[in-house]
Amino acid sequence: MITFVPEPHLLDSPRGRDWLPAPYSTPTAPPPAEADVVIVGAGPAGLAVASALWHLGVRDVALLDREGRPCGRFFDRVDVLGQRVLRSPYEHHPGVEGYRDCELLDFARLHWSRLTPVERREIRMAQAGHRSVVPVDVFEAYCEHVASLHHVDRRTWRASVREVRPTADGVTVRGDGFAVTAPYTVLCLGEERRPAPFDWWDGEATPRNVSYWDEPVPQDAQRLVVIGSGLSAAHLITNALNDGKRVHWVLRAPQERYQCADVNASFFRAEGRARFDGTSWEDRRILMGGQRRASVMFEFRPLLQRAEADGRLTVHRGRSVTAVAPGRAGRAAVRLSGGAEVIGDHVVLALGTTVSNGEQLLPRGIPSPRDGWPDLDERTLAYRNAPRVFAVGAAAGMVLGPAARNIDGHRVATARVATAVAARLEASAGLRRTEDRVAARV
Ligand SMILES: Cc1cc2nc3c(=O)[nH]c(=O)nc-3n(C[C@H](O)[C@H](O)[C@H](O)COP(=O)(O)OP(=O)(O)OC[C@H]3O[C@@H](n4cnc5c(N)ncnc54)[C@H](O)[C@@H]3O)c2cc1C
Repeated sequence: MITFVPEPHLLDSPRGRDWLPAPYSTPTAPPPAEADVVIVGAGPAGLAVASALWHLGVRDVALLDREGRPCGRFFDRVDVLGQRVLRSPYEHHPGVEGYRDCELLDFARLHWSRLTPVERREIRMAQAGHRSVVPVDVFEAYCEHVASLHHVDRRTWRASVREVRPTADGVTVRGDGFAVTAPYTVLCLGEERRPAPFDWWDGEATPRNVSYWDEPVPQDAQRLVVIGSGLSAAHLITNALNDGKRVHWVLRAPQERYQCADVNASFFRAEGRARFDGTSWEDRRILMGGQRRASVMFEFRPLLQRAEADGRLTVHRGRSVTAVAPGRAGRAAVRLSGGAEVIGDHVVLALGTTVSNGEQLLPRGIPSPRDGWPDLDERTLAYRNAPRVFAVGAAAGMVLGPAARNIDGHRVATARVATAVAARLEASAGLRRTEDRVAARV
């Protein structure tokens, strides 16, 4: 049997190198009143859609994003966790396939001289078809390259969208002080952090000494309690241990899982997606629940096992949290199933994410979510109750399977959505040309 030996140093790729791409040039004026397509959300999914549309000749695209820069939230989240390498392989990226665009692996090879020996070795591994890790630094430079190549940066406006209103012949997207109308809109909203269960503490406000995985951890906290079993929890724990802190790790599962990805690799391929085609909702729901489970990259295993062995890390396996309460001397107390209590200076919740299904933006009745998933046309990923509005990203999970929540899933969704949108725009332009010709003859 071959035993996979994880190498923790793979996690340490440098961050913040100068890659010399054209710097982002995002617009400062308000968004335009009209466009051919509005994309809400300029994360990796929005970037993939806009780039694909560019190749299909659809250039009048407006991307609206709270962060105001392509992939801003993705890299903010990665950086607050101190994540230096992606979990997904080189072939997963938001660039466009089937055109003469440079793909992520080509891009990394073109920048060979800037890479560390470890990063170069990982490229050789990728070329040989083996598992390899992608530096976040390379991925960000590549996203900037894709954004500037397809003019996505200059079509991305900082804007918080409050409502999306479809009509018979268009969609109006509104926020404070702006409204953009377009024939089609693509929602690429990503995922929000999963909030703590309402009964963990009294009242709405998160208690002092408690934060979420996407917020900075106070430097002065010496004893940290981390709740959650995924990669974010592993990063939080590792950062704290590296800073000399003591950590309690609360895991609901009986055992931590070390895996390449949360999703079985077959779901990134056509045969995995085929398991979702034409199957009943119930079967898909079971597949979704069973096939996407929180896990930690193999590379963390030696670090975490060593810390547990020497007492810097205490792991509470198979324990659910029942309450988080203020403790003595300004500390926080985490109560566990079975009655135990863990005390820390600070508690970090790494409870995962929830899919943004469009419910907050679309009129009631349009997303018609079932178990939280929007009702989408399987062929085009348009909302069945609003055929001019499409979804790319996690929201397409019940159509494309668990990989929809990963970068590779955005590529598959993009291919369907961009083709449908471009074809419809082309058809209506053709219709307009015919109408103009008829009008000219009359
Ligand atoms: C820390 C972390 C690491 C990950 N690592 C990997 C990995 O290695 N490989 C992988 O395949 N996947 C990874 N994922 C999962 C997933 O691929 C990423 O979350 C990816 O960013 C999803 O892209 P997205 O465009 O769908 O969402 P996001 O990147 O979240 O982008 C959505 C954008 O929409 C904006 N938005 C939402 N609502 C509105 C609104 N109303 N108005 C204006 N703007 C709005 C948000 O501000 C955000 O900028 C990771 C996720 C996280 C959180």
